[in-house]
Amino acid sequence: MQTPLESTLTRTYQVLGRPIQSLDRAFTRIIPIDSLDEKEFGEAIAVRYAAAKQGDEASRQYLQEILDQLSKFAKKPFKYRVFLLPHSVPNACALPGGVILVTEGLLEVLGSEAELVSVLAHEMGHVERGHCFEAVKFQMLFNKLKTPTLGKLADFAVGVMLRHAFSKTQENEADDYAFALILRTPYDPAAVGGAFASLKAYSGQEGRSKRSHADPVRDYFMTHPPLALRHDKYVQAARIWWQNHPGAKRYIGSGNLQLRESYYRRQRPGEWRQPGSHNSRG
Ligand SMILES: [Zn+2]
Repeated sequence: MQTPLESTLTRTYQVLGRPIQSLDRAFTRIIPIDSLDEKEFGEAIAVRYAAAKQGDEASRQYLQEILDQLSKFAKKPFKYRVFLLPHSVPNACALPGGVILVTEGLLEVLGSEAELVSVLAHEMGHVERGHCFEAVKFQMLFNKLKTPTLGKLADFAVGVMLRHAFSKTQENEADDYAFALILRTPYDPAAVGGAFASLKAYSGQEGRSKRSHADPVRDYFMTHPPLALRHDKYVQAARIWWQNHPGAKRYIGSGNLQLRESYYRRQRPGEWRQPGSHNSRG
C-alpha cells in the first residue's frame, strides 16, 4: 500500500522510468562515484525532465526566463534549469548541477514575481552552497551503489533529493543567499518575507496535517526553521534595507506573475515600490 506521499511521488518518478533514448548514450556509462562531476550530473538529470515535458509550457518558460537572469549572479559553472511538476501543493526543490523543480501550486500561491524570485534564489542557494551534491554523494556512498551508470545515478539523486530535508543551518544559508541575491536584482527585498507570508497563509487555509502527507517535494515549504520565524527575520531585514535606501525603487510584479510575463519582458508601471507611494508594502 502506498502512503499519500508515495503516490504523489510516483507521478514525479514516472518521468525517470522512461526509456533512455539513443542520444543519451552517456547515461549508460559507468561512473565511479568519486569522479562524478556535478555539472555533467546536472545535465543528465535535466535531459530526463526536458524529455518529459510536464506542466504548462508557458509557465515553464516564464520560470526559465527569470532563472536565466538570476543565474547570471551564480558562481558555479552550471546551466540552471527549471522544470514544472504538475502538483497543486506549493513547493520547490533543488537537484545537483542546477536543476530546480517547481510545482504548479507554487505559482498559484505566491503573490508576486518578486516572491517567486525569492523562492528560486533560495533553491539556487542550496546548489551554490553545495548542499544538494553533498547530500546525494553521501547517500550514494552510504548505499554502496555497484557499477552505477550516469543514468542510474541521476535517478538515484532525484529520489534522494525529493525526500531530503536539509539541516536548519543549510536552510538559513539558502535564505541568506536568497536575500543577498534579490538585493542584486530590481526586485523588492521585502518579497523574501512576503513569500513566507504567502505560504503561511496557504498552510493556514489547508490545514497542516493533511497537507504535509501529500507534499511531493520537501524543501521550501519545510516547517523547520518555522515559516513564522523565517518570515519575521526577513521582513525585518527588508525594513532595515528600505530605511537605509530611502530613494530606492524596487519591483513587485503581481501582474507579471499572473500573466506569466516577466519583468524582463514587460515592466508594468503600477508595480514599482517607492517609499511613500500608494502600493508600498511591508
Ligand atoms: Zn531550502
